[in-house]
Amino acid sequence: MGIVDNIKLIREEIPQNVKLIAVSKTKPVEDILEVYNFGHKVFGENKPQELRDKEAVMPKDIEWHFIGHLQTNKVKYIAPFVSLIHSVDSLKLLSEINKEAIKNERIIDCLIQIDIAHEETKFGLSENQARELLSSEEFHTMKNIRICGLMGIGSITDDNKKTRSEFKELKSIFLSLKQAFFLTQESFSEISMGMSSDYSLAIEEGSTMVRVGSSIFGSRNYLKLQ
Ligand SMILES: *Cc1c(COP(=O)(O)O)cnc(C)c1O
Repeated sequence: MGIVDNIKLIREEIPQNVKLIAVSKTKPVEDILEVYNFGHKVFGENKPQELRDKEAVMPKDIEWHFIGHLQTNKVKYIAPFVSLIHSVDSLKLLSEINKEAIKNERIIDCLIQIDIAHEETKFGLSENQARELLSSEEFHTMKNIRICGLMGIGSITDDNKKTRSEFKELKSIFLSLKQAFFLTQESFSEISMGMSSDYSLAIEEGSTMVRVGSSIFGSRNYLKLQ
C-alpha cells in the first residue's frame, strides 16, 4: 500500500474531533507533497532545522507542529511559522519561545509535555513540576505564548494495559490542571497522545490529537539520512 492509501485508512478510523498529525520526520518533501496533494495539511516534525528547511520549500497553507525535544537556542528556527509546539518541558524553554514570539509579533500555541512513561530516555514534567511552572510569577508575565493543553508519549511496550494506564494518567492530569489553572480558558483543551502503535487506545482514553508517522509514511531509515 502507498502513503495515500495509508492515510486514507487512518483518517477513516479517526473520529472527526481528533486531529491527525502526519509525522513526516526524516521523510523527503516528495512524500509530504503526496499527502498534501491528497488533501491533508497537518504535519509534525521533531528537528528544528529539518522543519525550517521543509517549511521553506512547502506550500504555505500547511499547519506545522513541532513534536520533538526543543533546545532553547533552536526556537528561532521555527518561531516564525510553527502552529503548535507540543514539547514544552521547562520554564526556560517557554520563556525563550515567548521572546521569539514577541520578535515575530505573534502568539505561539504550546502544550506542556508530561512524563507519563517514566523512562529515563523520555522528556517531560511531572504533574507537580507542571504546577510549579504554571504557578510561577515568570509564567504570568509571558504574554506571547498560549498553553493549549498537554502532550505525553506512552512507553514502548506491547502491554496495552500499561499504555492505557499512562493515557488515563495524562487525561487525569489534564483535568486537574484545567481545574486549577485554566477553568475560564477554553483554549486549554488539547491532549496530544497516541502514535502509530497506540493511537486507537489513546483516542479511547480521550486524546484530541494523534501523532502518526510510520503507519502513514512507512518505517524510518535514520542511517540513510544522517
Ligand atoms: C516520531 C514521533 C511520533 C510518530 O511515531 P510513529 O511511531 O512513527 O507513529 C510521534 N510523536 C513523537 C513525539 C515522535 O517523536
